Amino acid sequence: MARIAIVGGGGYVGLAYAVAFADLGHDVVGLDTDQSKIAALKAGRSTIYEPGLDDLLHRGLASRRLSFTTDYARALAGAEFAFICVGTPPDEIGRADTTYVAAAARGIATHATRDLIVVNKSTMPVGSVQFVAEVLAEHARADISFSVISNPEFLREGAAIHDIFNPDRIVLGTDQPDVADRVAALYATLNAPVLVTDTRSAEMIKYASNALLATKISFINEVALICERLGADSRTVAHGMGMDHRISPRFLGAGVGFGGSCFPKDVRALAAMATDAGLHPNLLTAVLTINAHMRAHVVDLLTDNLGDLAGKSIAILGLAFKPETDDIREAPALDVIRALIAAGAKVRATDPVAMSNAAAQLPDIAYCRSAYHAATGADAVVVMTEWQDYTTLDLDQLANSMRGNLIIDGRHALDATTCHTAGLTHIAIGRGRPDTRIATPAPAPDLHAPPVAHTTTVQTTATQPV
Ligand code: NAD
Repeated sequence: MARIAIVGGGGYVGLAYAVAFADLGHDVVGLDTDQSKIAALKAGRSTIYEPGLDDLLHRGLASRRLSFTTDYARALAGAEFAFICVGTPPDEIGRADTTYVAAAARGIATHATRDLIVVNKSTMPVGSVQFVAEVLAEHARADISFSVISNPEFLREGAAIHDIFNPDRIVLGTDQPDVADRVAALYATLNAPVLVTDTRSAEMIKYASNALLATKISFINEVALICERLGADSRTVAHGMGMDHRISPRFLGAGVGFGGSCFPKDVRALAAMATDAGLHPNLLTAVLTINAHMRAHVVDLLTDNLGDLAGKSIAILGLAFKPETDDIREAPALDVIRALIAAGAKVRATDPVAMSNAAAQLPDIAYCRSAYHAATGADAVVVMTEWQDYTTLDLDQLANSMRGNLIIDGRHALDATTCHTAGLTHIAIGRGRPDTRIATPAPAPDLHAPPVAHTTTVQTTATQPV
């Protein structure tokens, strides 16, 4: 069993790995510069909501195989591995900001007391193994040597612990087979396929994977918009497409678009890398444009059905960017709420776990204890996150709470027939009416027109096309 320092151990990935590695029997110190996170974790209070995490945290602390500190020297004392799990947020033009990575590498270099394997777990631009090695070399004692390896992470928020224990693959980017063997040994009990590649290909596998998943979502969303106009149902279309094994049904759910701390940031970062390399990432740019438009589409659907939104009361069900997490980074709901506020609407929002995070960014809306409370007096209800609480709503009770009867279902969370029986007008993204009259063809399309016709523009947290 190994001694591991997790740098960024109070963050989403770092904490999930700290508790998981301790549970696998390793001796783990979670290091974070955020004192409040470390104080909470030492007291056994998790800093994020993630199914299964609390149990592992308590078990790890009780076993004494898991501890937390803000002190680099203490974290690195005796460590054989240092995992860098700090954030790599986008800068103003979408490039991954490696400031935190550089600071982590400096901290490791300055405090290491023995030779160390440094594992780049954060999602870092291609070339970062070399970058981290250079920072380490610049700040380390002359008698200590480091091996840096890329080990990108593919966990899904909301299923982080499950995914760590059941990975599809472990990707290791290094030109040192002995280092690959030692890092692979940390995961040995998981029996996952291990792919050892050169460092840059490992780094690119992470970006390309997220970019493809984001592309599938924007693809089906573009198809969904066409379905609305032509009277088809995007969910049925996705089902039929997904029966083809070459396509698979995963990531073909039309809706309000992707959010979270990874897809938007990683697609922008990959596009920025391409642009910096003198290329034109047209597909990636379109993926981001379509994604931003899906937020605007929600507001357009509300306006189409309610008219001027000024003074209208809109209930938002779901703030987290997906169910089973309290993460609101780049959450579609927040973009939609900002657009509604700008249009003069009154917003009543609810979420099972993400309300306090949202309130820090949007303090001036009403936060409600339940969907029924949010819907009270509302002209429309918008489902932005498919929490189970919302897929199992008592729709009669919801309808009775509302002033109006409009449901915009941004996640295909509700059954249309049950909604109609409850007297609700249910509009799901990508579901056209089968009796739609298909317009006679207009003159030949303008091939230079923008890819998506916008009515409303919603400012996403960072929509900057690269
Ligand atoms: P996060 O913001 O939740 O956590 C980062 C942590 O690093 C914070 O607690 C912060 O205080 C700490 N930190 C910053 N600078 C530090 C320093 N110099 N020394 C010690 N600690 C420091 O971020 P996250 O969501 O865990 O993401 C981390 C990385 O993992 C990113 O590159 C991200 O793209 C990647 N990733 C995230 C996910 C995910 O689902 N969140 C999945 C795969 C990959």
